[in-house]
Amino acid sequence: MTKRLESLTKTIQFIPLTNGKTLLMYKGYTFNKNQSLAIGYRYNCAAWTSKKCRAYVNISEDKTQVINSKDFHTHPPTVYRALASGFYFKVC
Ligand SMILES: [Zn+2]
Repeated sequence: MTKRLESLTKTIQFIPLTNGKTLLMYKGYTFNKNQSLAIGYRYNCAAWTSKKCRAYVNISEDKTQVINSKDFHTHPPTVYRALASGFYFKVC
C-alpha cells in the first residue's frame, strides 16, 4: 500500500501547452526546465519568478524518475486542462 502510493507520488508527466511550451507536472505543480545536471535535469517551479517560489525537481537523464525535489511551494497548484488535441491550457 505504502509502496504503491510512493510510486504514484513520484510520477512525473510532461504536458505540451497550446503556446508551444512543454512543462513538467509533478504532484499537481508545473515546472520549467532550468539546466542540465551531470545525472539528469533540473526543473524549477513555473512560479519561480512570478511568485518567488523556490520549489524544484531533479529528474533522471531518461526523464522517467525523480532523483530529488524540494516540494515546498509558496502558492496553490496551477490548474491545467487538456484539450482533445492533447495540448493543455492554463485554467487558473
Ligand atoms: Zn511553486
